[in-house]
Amino acid sequence: MKNNFKIGSHVSISGGLIGAAREAASYNADTFMIYTGAPQNTRRSPIEKLKIEEGHKFMKEHNLSDIVVHAPYIINLASYKEDTYELAVSFLKKEIERTTAIGSDYIVLHPGAYTDKTAEYGIQRIADGLNMVLLPETRPFICLETMAGKGTEIGRSFEELAMIIDKVDLREKIGVCFDTCHTHDSGYDIINNFDNVMEEFDSIIGLDRLKVFHINGSLNIRGAKKDRHANIGADDSNPKGKDMIGFDAIYNIVHSKYAENKILILETPWLDKNTNLYKEEIAMLRGER
Ligand code: FE
Ligand code: FE
Ligand code: ZN
Repeated sequence: MKNNFKIGSHVSISGGLIGAAREAASYNADTFMIYTGAPQNTRRSPIEKLKIEEGHKFMKEHNLSDIVVHAPYIINLASYKEDTYELAVSFLKKEIERTTAIGSDYIVLHPGAYTDKTAEYGIQRIADGLNMVLLPETRPFICLETMAGKGTEIGRSFEELAMIIDKVDLREKIGVCFDTCHTHDSGYDIINNFDNVMEEFDSIIGLDRLKVFHINGSLNIRGAKKDRHANIGADDSNPKGKDMIGFDAIYNIVHSKYAENKILILETPWLDKNTNLYKEEIAMLRGER
């Protein structure tokens, strides 16, 4: 079956871009997402070591395209702490350079957490940071991710993302990454009312901003604000737990008009350190089961 979306998963960059592409091919993917190093820290190997040319050659031969880069979690553009904020801005700048060098057009970014301040404060701070890093020649879209609303995370509503975008001067460079686990956890009814949710997205943010989907199940009920991913359609026999969104709802999202020509990335759990279900999940969601 030929689908009009591209689907893949998060893969490891430890073997360079060529290693990432090989891993994606082993899942039969069309695309993939990488962190440029460990998501929790800022240690990064130099661009020359990432085997980018070899990676692109392999990608071409295996019909892989549209690499997505995920910025590390430690970037908190909403922070009021000067050192945290400066690190976030400078690291994001370098991450844009790395993403450009890798040949990717999309950086997914968690907007930030306002900690001891207010959402309004955080929103302004994030927009200021984006205004510092974005240049007219910036190539990748910065895709703000819809968040679950854990703690003081900003981006738990479409309104919050729209408020950030509104304050960015070069907002043509801003995209959105729609995470199914996060929107469900933050309270949107993507199980029964996905079309309404997307109409709301369109009226508040605009569908033209939508670039990437993170396709995940959730271990929790709608509105739980937890952010714990489940395997797609997992039942009680899955060691990582049951998916409360369910296969049918996710399949419906993936095959909806909203996912047409979009990049879909799985961030579902690994069963153990050697086993994931990416290949099976990709095949199931394509309708190859
Ligand atoms: Fe994310
Ligand atoms: Fe995500
Ligand atoms: Zn998540």
